[in-house]
Parts: sequence; C-alpha cells; structure tokens
Amino acid sequence: MVRPQAVTILDTTLRDGLQIEKTIVPTDTKVALAERLIAAGLRQIEVGSFVNPKKVPQMADTDDLLRRLQPHEDDGVEFFTLVFNRKGAERAAAAGAKNIKLVLSASEGHSRANSDAPIAQATERLLAAADYARDHGIRFDITTAVSFICPFDGITPADRLVEVLRPFVEAGAHGIGIADTIGNANPSLVRTNTSAVLAAFPDHPLGLHLHDTYNFGMANVIAALDLGVASFDSAMGGLGGCPFAPGAAGNIGTDDLVHLLHREGVATGVDVEALAEVRGPLVAAVGHELGSSLSQIPAVPAALAGASR
Ligand code: ZN
Repeated sequence: MVRPQAVTILDTTLRDGLQIEKTIVPTDTKVALAERLIAAGLRQIEVGSFVNPKKVPQMADTDDLLRRLQPHEDDGVEFFTLVFNRKGAERAAAAGAKNIKLVLSASEGHSRANSDAPIAQATERLLAAADYARDHGIRFDITTAVSFICPFDGITPADRLVEVLRPFVEAGAHGIGIADTIGNANPSLVRTNTSAVLAAFPDHPLGLHLHDTYNFGMANVIAALDLGVASFDSAMGGLGGCPFAPGAAGNIGTDDLVHLLHREGVATGVDVEALAEVRGPLVAAVGHELGSSLSQIPAVPAALAGASR
C-alpha cells in the first residue's frame, strides 16, 4: 500500500477537546471557534456528543451548536456528533444531523466504564440507533474506543476488534473509526490492528483517532499512513481526553498533524497560518495554554514554510 497523497483531518476540538475542560465553553464561543477552523480549510468538524448532559455538561449544547453551524454545510463542511443509543440518534435527527458516529468500546472493561454495559448490550443499543439513523436518512459511522489497548483490559486483540465492528458494517455503517482512547498504542500495535480492520473491511473508509499521552501520536500517524490510512482525528493545540478512561491525555494536535503531513508532502487542504489563528481564541476559551508542539513553538521557520501545502 502506498501512502495517500492527501489526507482528511477531522477536527474534534469542540468535542473531544472540550469535553474534559473544567470551563464550560459558551455556545457562541464554540460557533466562533468552529468558524475559524472552517476558515482554515477544515471540512470535517466534530461538534459534540449526544450524551447525558448531567454526565458531560460540556456537551449539553450539542443540539443547538449543530443547528447553528449547519449553514456551513453549503460550503462543503461535514459536521459529526457522537451517539451512544437510540435517544441520542433521535436528538441528532431533531437537530438536523447528516452524519453521526456510533461509539462502542472494544474492551469489556471500558464498555462498562463508558456505557455502563457489556459490549453485547452496548451493541444492541447502538444497532437500535443505527436503525433509527438509517430510517431518517442519517449517515452513520462506527467508532471503537480502546481499539488498541485498554486501561482496564490491556491489549485489544485484532480479531476481537474486527468482530465488534462487524455487526455495524453489516448494518450499513459508512465509515469506520478506530480510537486509541488513552494514547497508549505504539506503532507496531497500530500496524497490527489497523491492518486487520483494513483487511476485513476494505470497502469502508477508515479513520484513526489518536491521543498523545506518551508522544507516540505522530509515530502512530506515520505507521497508519504507510498502511494507506487517509483520515485522522485531531484537536487543535492537543486538547482532549476521555472522562471515562483513566490516564487519557490530549488528542494529537491538529496544528502538529498538519505540520507533519505537509512536511511529508501529504496535502490536507488546511492553511497553516489561518489555523494558527485558532490558537488565541481557544486559549481564551479554555483559560490555559495548549499542549501541542506548535503551541510551544508557534513560528515555523520560514525556510520550511515552502514545504507546506
Ligand atoms: Zn478521544
């Protein structure tokens, strides 16, 4: 498999990035941040999660936020939200969602922590959401948490990962996302499990969702890129983390990801300078500095700017 020449970046700053922040960012601020991300060229934005607002109050405005951003769909922007059950799918439909992501844990330990249910029961709930989405013309993807390694159960076997995904592919899922929820996968593990999913479901677009707890994030991007993966999730400045996975750190930074891909000659459609302008308002919104490498060294040397595209 050759490396893709272009990659799609799904920016999850507003969802994964903000879901564990102490500050509850107002909807107006989220809209403004999304508009800056769109202005920078990002065309896939994850805006929130249809979860119990008592459990994750940072995501309580997902319905409203999605509605307010929808005019940008005319510019070719796709908005994504996470759904965990049929009720979530109903909320997504009511808010006019065109794409949702159904989220399942690939390990029993994380499934219990994240959705209070074993995998079999969570699968049933999610398949009901899939039915609802299909009946209402909403495209759905299936995303697995802890796809490589789990803080409770250890390494996720590749065949296990394929088997938890299968019912959703059979139910009509469009894309597949596999997440390193705690950012503890290493490139060999990424290669093993990603290859298995690519081999099992070659006709479904595959995206990777990576966190950067141990600085393995960018090495994992390269490993996946070399397998032909052409879609990655990231959050501006490396914000993010899972409230139900102990030890999870931030996502790979959208800024760092764009920088790496451009340096490797892979197109993203993102304007580096416009993207940098998201940083200031984001710091103001969350009230602290960001963790991505480029947030620490904001100026890319001019000699390297020509390598960007
Ligand atoms: Zn995540």
